[in-house]
Amino acid sequence: MTAFERPLFVVFLMFAAIALPFTAGSSHASDAPDISYLNSSSAPAAPPVDYDYRLFSEIVSIMYATEAAHSGIAKVYDIGDSWEKTNGTADRDILAMKISDNVEVEEDEPELLIMALHHAREWPTAEVATELILNLTDAYGSDARLSWLVDNREIWIVPVVNPDGHDYAMTTYDMWRKNRRLNYDGSFGVDLNRNYDGSQNGDPLGEWGGAGTSDLPSSDVYCGEAPFSEPETQAIRDLTQAHDFQIAIDFHTYGGLVLWPWNYVLDLAPDNDDLVRIGTEFAALNGYTPAQGIDLYATTGDSTDWLYGGEDIYAYCIEIGSDQDGFHPPEQDAVLGIINDNLPVALLAAELCGDREERAFDIAHAPVATREYDASGFEFSADITADRGVDVSALSVFYSVNSGAWQEVAMGTTASNDTYTATIPVQAIGSVVDYYFVAHDLGGVELMSPMYAPYEEYTFSVTGVLSDPPTADAGADGQASVGASYQFDGAGSDDDVGIDNYTWTFTDVAAQTLYEVSPNYVFDRPGSFTVTLTVKDAEAQTDADQVVVTVVDDTPPVADAGTDHLVMVGGSVSFEGSLSDDNVAVVSYEWKFVYNGSERTLTGVSPDFTFWTVDEYVVTLNVTDAAGNYDTDTVTVTVEAAAIPEFSGLIVPVTLVMVAFLVLMRRSRSGTQK
Ligand SMILES: [Zn+2]
Repeated sequence: MTAFERPLFVVFLMFAAIALPFTAGSSHASDAPDISYLNSSSAPAAPPVDYDYRLFSEIVSIMYATEAAHSGIAKVYDIGDSWEKTNGTADRDILAMKISDNVEVEEDEPELLIMALHHAREWPTAEVATELILNLTDAYGSDARLSWLVDNREIWIVPVVNPDGHDYAMTTYDMWRKNRRLNYDGSFGVDLNRNYDGSQNGDPLGEWGGAGTSDLPSSDVYCGEAPFSEPETQAIRDLTQAHDFQIAIDFHTYGGLVLWPWNYVLDLAPDNDDLVRIGTEFAALNGYTPAQGIDLYATTGDSTDWLYGGEDIYAYCIEIGSDQDGFHPPEQDAVLGIINDNLPVALLAAELCGDREERAFDIAHAPVATREYDASGFEFSADITADRGVDVSALSVFYSVNSGAWQEVAMGTTASNDTYTATIPVQAIGSVVDYYFVAHDLGGVELMSPMYAPYEEYTFSVTGVLSDPPTADAGADGQASVGASYQFDGAGSDDDVGIDNYTWTFTDVAAQTLYEVSPNYVFDRPGSFTVTLTVKDAEAQTDADQVVVTVVDDTPPVADAGTDHLVMVGGSVSFEGSLSDDNVAVVSYEWKFVYNGSERTLTGVSPDFTFWTVDEYVVTLNVTDAAGNYDTDTVTVTVEAAAIPEFSGLIVPVTLVMVAFLVLMRRSRSGTQK
C-alpha cells in the first residue's frame, strides 16, 4: 500500500476492533451480556501497532552513534556515493559498518558481508541489518558467543545499499524498487540487483543483461547500460575486492526463501554441497525454504551470482518475510518477527565463515574441577583431530591464575598421535586457574575449546596442604654513601621448601625493583630509604621485611673561581663560579676578599663588584653542598690606576720650552750687567 493509504488503514482497523465485541454480543442467543471476549483466548486482537521504519538519515545516525559508543569495535566506512550524490542532487553516502575487535586494523580474521536494501521498498531488510549492528555492539562483553564473534571475525554490514531509493520509497512512492538514476529516456532507476557483472564463470548465459533482466530503462528489472554502471554496485564491488569475505548475505523481501547460486541457470554451482549445507542451516533457523536461486526465477547480474562466481564468496540471497508480509508489512509484530527470525541467521553466518567448508576439526578434552598441588606444574592433554591435518606448530593452552592476565604455553605432541599436552606452571594451593585450548588446522582454521573462549573457559582449583610460609629477612639497617655501591643482604630469609624468588621494592626512590638475594644498588641522593624485601616460596606463599638505608653525601664539592681579572679603577668585575661542581648539588657560593681594610663577602654563582681602589685582590670562593661539605678556590683581581689623559703629553715639552726661555732671559740679563 502507499504511504497515503496507511493512516486510513490503521483507522479502519481500530474501528473494526472496537466494533467487533458489540457485533459478537448481539449475535448471541442469550439475554445475558456476552462477556466472553474478556477472556484472553477469545478476546479480539488488539489493533495492530505500526512498525516505525527508520528513515535513511536515522540509520546513518544510529551507525555514527554506535561508532561513538563502541569506538573499539565499531567503525563507519563511507564506501561510495549514491547516484544522486554523484549527480549533485543529494548528499547520501553508502555506509558500511565494520564490527570487530581492533576495528581499525585489518586483521587476519574470517570476514562476513551483510548487505540490505538493494531494492528501495524492501524496508525490513535495513531493519534487520541495523538491529544486527545494535545487537552485536550492545552484547559485546556480556554475551559469550557475540563477544567471541566480534573478537574473532570481521563483520561488515551495509544496511542500505540503495540510499536514494530508500529515501524515495519512504517519502514519495513506497513501491519504488530501483535506484534513482535519471535514465536517457527520462525514466528513473536501474535495478541494482541486475547490475552486477554476471556469473563470471565463462558461461554466456550467466553474463550481465541475460535472463530476468530488461534493456528497457523504465522496466523494474532494467539492468543498466553496463555491468557496474551504478555507483551503488561499484561500492559493493570495491568493498568486496578490498576484502576476503567467505560468506555474504544479501537480504531482500519477501517470500521466506534462502537462495544460493546459481541464479541464472539450473546447473549446480561447483561448491553446491557446501552452499546447500549452509543454506539449509540458515533455513532451519528462520524457518524459510532453502533453494537454489533459479528455483524462484532466473536472474542475471544479481549480487550473489557475481559474489560467488567472481569473488569466491558463498553468497546467499535471503528473501525475508512471508508472502502475506509483502515488501514492507506495516505491523510491528510482523517486522519484529522478521528481525527475530533472521538475526540468528546472520550470527550463524559469522560463525560459519571461519570454516565454511566445515571440515572435521575437534578438540576433545575432559576437564576436572580440582588438581592436587604439584611442584612440577599441571599437565593437560587434549585429543585434537582435523580433517586437513593439525598444525602442530600452532597449538596452545592459555591460562589465567586468579583472574589475572592470560598467559600462553605451547602444546607438544605425546606418544599417541592425536594427544597433545601442555604444562601449566605450578600454582599456589587455593589458586583458581582458568584455561582454554586454541588449535589450528593446516587449512588455517582456528578452533578453541571451549568454543567461545575466553568468554567461556575450563576452570580448576589447586588443592593440597600448604607447607610453612617463608620468612623474609632484609638484613640490618645500613649506611650508604651517595654514588657508591651498597649491597643489600637477603640471605637470612628462610623457607622449609625453598625460596623461589626475592623482590626488593624501593618505595621512595623512583620506581626500582631488584630480584637477587643480595643485590647491589647505587643511591644517587642522600636521604633515608625504606626498602621492602618480599620472598616467595614454591607454593607462592610470601613474606615481607623492610630495611632502612641511610644515605649520606660525603663527597665534597669542587670549587672553581674562574680566571683572574684585570680592571681599571672604577671597573666592574663579574665573578664566575658556575664551573664549580658537586656529586649532588652546590647549595651556597661565598666570595671573600679584603677591601679597603675590611672583609667583604659576596654570594651567588656570579656576583658583580666595582673596584675603586688600585690594588691586587685575592678573592676566595667557598662552595658548600647540602651535607656541609665544602671546597675553596681563589681568583686574583688586579686594579690599575687610570691612564694619563692624552693632552697631558704636552706638559713636558711646554715646561721645557718655558725653562729654556727663562734661562736664556737670565743669561742675557747677566750679560748686560757685566
Ligand atoms: Zn529485492
